[in-house]
Amino acid sequence: MINQESKAIEKIKAQKVIGIQIGAESFMDEGVEQVLDILQEKGAVNTLYVSTFTYDRGIHGRPGRSFPDHGIAKPDTERYHGGNYATPHAEFYKNTRIKGELLKAPDFGNVDILEKVIPAARKRRMKVFASVQDGFNYPDDVTVFKEFYEENLGGQRGGAMCFLQPDVREFWKAVCVDLCTSYDIDGILLFNERGGPFLNALGASHNQSIQSSRVTCFCEHHRKAAEARGIDFERAKEGYRKLDAFVQTSLSGNRPTDGYYVEFERLMFAYPEVYALNQLFDMGKSQILADVYAAVKGVNKNQQVGFHIEHVNSFNPFYRATRNYADMAKIADFLKVVVYDNCGGERYASFIRNAGSIVFRDVPPDELMRFNNYLLNYSEKEASMADLPKAGLSPDYVYRETRRALEGVQGQCDILPGLDINIPTGRNSKVATPEDTYATTLAALKGGAQGVILSRKYSEMMLANLEAAGRAARDAATLKMETSNNRFNFY
Ligand SMILES: [Zn+2]
Repeated sequence: MINQESKAIEKIKAQKVIGIQIGAESFMDEGVEQVLDILQEKGAVNTLYVSTFTYDRGIHGRPGRSFPDHGIAKPDTERYHGGNYATPHAEFYKNTRIKGELLKAPDFGNVDILEKVIPAARKRRMKVFASVQDGFNYPDDVTVFKEFYEENLGGQRGGAMCFLQPDVREFWKAVCVDLCTSYDIDGILLFNERGGPFLNALGASHNQSIQSSRVTCFCEHHRKAAEARGIDFERAKEGYRKLDAFVQTSLSGNRPTDGYYVEFERLMFAYPEVYALNQLFDMGKSQILADVYAAVKGVNKNQQVGFHIEHVNSFNPFYRATRNYADMAKIADFLKVVVYDNCGGERYASFIRNAGSIVFRDVPPDELMRFNNYLLNYSEKEASMADLPKAGLSPDYVYRETRRALEGVQGQCDILPGLDINIPTGRNSKVATPEDTYATTLAALKGGAQGVILSRKYSEMMLANLEAAGRAARDAATLKMETSNNRFNFY
């Protein structure tokens, strides 16, 4: 009996998470049971990450760039708004002036997507997580956030909410505690893709314009926090103004006498406050994650909290230096590490172009990319700058990033690589085939990940690719005996 029981426990532990991100629109347009049938049969999916609180099209909706072979082949621009797709409860928002009960998403009237999906998923023994996303550029009619917006270097407010505002900290806790208390869910997947002022000033990401004069946050809360840490706030501001001037000069191709890189380093030596303020920003971001983790555990320690780790983590060594897997593992049950390979090609090329237009402007882009590949431990076989958008990144990239994350967290939390299933790309860029998807999924699982999260959302996935991911998951499960003794398995 005991033996049987422990065998059953072993079996559960050995089962990998095959998760998928999915928005309310798919359940509403295609039917809950029908969608779950497809996910289980084709994708071998056992865990749903339902986009529950979001104003961002990345994990929800159909903006209308391309449509897959299921659902409705029509953009949802008329109904799309964003908000809370479950039902917010006022009693959880008592400690914040940001009244979450006003943020019910109007897209589907009174429909509560968790109430609709959870019973059907439970019957199938599928797990359900609520995805919660802190973002930017909220709709104009969502005025409740405005008072708490960040202040940029130019003194204007806007864009996103300041992490150091006490109401903001309380708000994110309230959203997650409400969901974890009011619904029978397995936990939360929290998204927050905001970079700090240093990285934003340099355009150190793949998908942004370089607006070095508008970096954040310079509000009163940030001033106080800086002063409490002995950071000279005025010097920091001056440093960011100088950095802005350097960025603008570099973008115009006006080469400093000693070259772009030396000029940049000189500025950093003169203004160490620039780094210090960036760290303060990152501390604020981590604090939100830690707050949510502690608050959810206070409700039910069996509910899990995980964080989405954005794609720039793949490309940018500066970003990597500001994050530490071992530290994140202390406040997370799992990390969804983005390893999008297909769109990764054009995104990586775009990052290199950004980096090569400022600090590394003296280096030819191809050589800069090869150099960066060494820094990131990417294979020399990845495509050249010119071919990268068309070729995408390889399954080897997925494998290496999975390994790096696993070695980083040292078994302290699970690693669930986020896989690229038909993420839209530019017209001449890579389009994922089922063969790619199979190879990528297998690479992540062979790397020893505790599972995968098919991303970004079901409403953009082709069924053949979903099926390929499912096939890889099933194949990986049968290969398990062979690999169970190698050093790559933590369990
Ligand atoms: Zn602030």
